[in-house]
Amino acid sequence: MRRRPWPAIVSAVTDHYDVIIVGSGAGGGTLAHTLAPSGMRILLLERGDFLTRETDNWNPGPVFVDGKYISQDTWYDADGQPFQPQVHYFIGGATKLYGAALYRLRPADFGEIKHADGVSPAWPLSYDDFEPWYTKAEWLYQVRGNHGEDPTEGHWSKQYPWPPVSHEPRVQQISNALSDGGYHPFHAPCGILLDEADPPVSECVRCAWCDGYPCLVHAKADADIIAVRPLLGRPNVNLVVNARVERMETDPAGRVVTGVEVTREGEREVYSADIVVISAGAANSARILLRSASERHPEGLANGSDQVGRNYMFHNSNAVVALGREPNDTVFQKTLGLSDFYLAGNGRDWPLGSIQMLGKSNAMALKGEEPKLTRFAPRWSLDKVARHGVDFWLTTEDMPQPGNRVTVDRAGRVHLAYRPTNDEEARALYHELRQILNHVGMADHHVLDKNFYMRMNVPIASCAHQAGTCRFGTNPATSVLDVNCKAHELDNLYVVDTSFFPSIGAVNPALTAMANAIRVGEHLLRRMAA
Ligand SMILES: Cc1cc2nc3c(=O)[nH]c(=O)nc-3n(C[C@H](O)[C@H](O)[C@H](O)COP(=O)(O)OP(=O)(O)OC[C@H]3O[C@@H](n4cnc5c(N)ncnc54)[C@H](O)[C@@H]3O)c2cc1C
Repeated sequence: MRRRPWPAIVSAVTDHYDVIIVGSGAGGGTLAHTLAPSGMRILLLERGDFLTRETDNWNPGPVFVDGKYISQDTWYDADGQPFQPQVHYFIGGATKLYGAALYRLRPADFGEIKHADGVSPAWPLSYDDFEPWYTKAEWLYQVRGNHGEDPTEGHWSKQYPWPPVSHEPRVQQISNALSDGGYHPFHAPCGILLDEADPPVSECVRCAWCDGYPCLVHAKADADIIAVRPLLGRPNVNLVVNARVERMETDPAGRVVTGVEVTREGEREVYSADIVVISAGAANSARILLRSASERHPEGLANGSDQVGRNYMFHNSNAVVALGREPNDTVFQKTLGLSDFYLAGNGRDWPLGSIQMLGKSNAMALKGEEPKLTRFAPRWSLDKVARHGVDFWLTTEDMPQPGNRVTVDRAGRVHLAYRPTNDEEARALYHELRQILNHVGMADHHVLDKNFYMRMNVPIASCAHQAGTCRFGTNPATSVLDVNCKAHELDNLYVVDTSFFPSIGAVNPALTAMANAIRVGEHLLRRMAA
């Protein structure tokens, strides 16, 4: 007989709900917001707490050098080397720190795409299927943008709720130069609550402390501010913070989740619900499922396909600072995008990805992001780099690979095996950026690579865009979730964070997670009503 890999939970169920949601980030928070008006009893279990409003929120030293808002977790790479993953455990999840660039995937991303390192698989739904939920997510998260400017975007049924965030003079200059050079720059879709009317009526002060910082004035459209906070005080929604979900137990047949085991303030609690939704982030959702192995699910809950934890992706990204002769006084720089290299063709064998502007560098952030490179650099030289720098963010699609995977050891520790893909495409995109700099008058100047999210200098520690690990699909042998994001092998278990992605495309993932959470939420409303 097979040895039971984990001890059984002896359940003393603390409380029963209609729906339990694990994690309050882009997926879980948005789902709670979608379900709450129905009146169903919802338990939102969040490992973290509300992120404290304090001056450090906008202080690059604590944020980038000390990593004040990064979890203290230790994960292990394929060689067993420990690293500190850059994950964020707060109400709102990673969106508390995100740059709020809220992009739709392109229609082509929903089909098969040939890449240098293989074929990116098709989704079980098309862009057109997804479009209504993208629109709902853009309106919920109050995205500023202008549909119709980017030639690679898909059809849209409704314009953004707000006009785009205006370019500051240096970015406008770059945009004009790109247009003159035959490129197609567009206003990046931004989830910042900035009202540029005269006089302005919003809290947003158009600062430089957005991308990678929590918003001190609560003017960033994150999952806390937009989705979770408005639910506080609703009698049917119970938010429990500092509640870390450890594992799940099922009925004897292994078809129904009957208990959600939580550690809170050192105590063990067990909750139950008719429907259980995991949305703990791609790595942590896989961890919960793998830790929930039982006799019925010996390789982990919902893991008969051996796909849980596999196909981890996080983009092949590069941040680049181009140093111009003239100072760059831009404050909010993240207003411009360029998709001219998103698809193959026009002499390119492969799709290369997208180019965006990034939050403006400052000396402390450079020190935090590149501690080795900047160790002996005097502060004035970093200030000069930051003053003259124009920051770009290059995103190339990362391929789902079965060997890029999350596993969990017997002590419950996360192991992340990861090898980058599509390096050739990422290099080609960087080459294209160098060409672009010709058009914006920065050809002869310095270009400095910086690994924006890689403060630890360990590429896999950069978990900002983590996705995959529980992909959805129609075939239970090759996917974990069905088209509604319900586990194939269970009747009442769903996953709605970025782990459902079969491929990641080459744009930021949050809007797709939000749109999908609304989609799954509407499915659950129909299911519960029936
Ligand atoms: C610095 C930074 C910048 C980014 N910029 C952008 C951007 O500009 N645009 C964009 O689209 N994306 C951006 N992202 C990525 C984006 O934030 C994520 O893709 C998105 O938040 C993922 O949503 P999710 O629901 O999968 O996970 P999350 O939003 O991380 O939510 C997971 C939640 O689960 C909780 N949790 C984890 N484990 C447990 C457990 N065991 N029990 C209970 N709760 C648990 C966590 O605390 C968290 O609240 C950025 C991320 C970072 C870190």
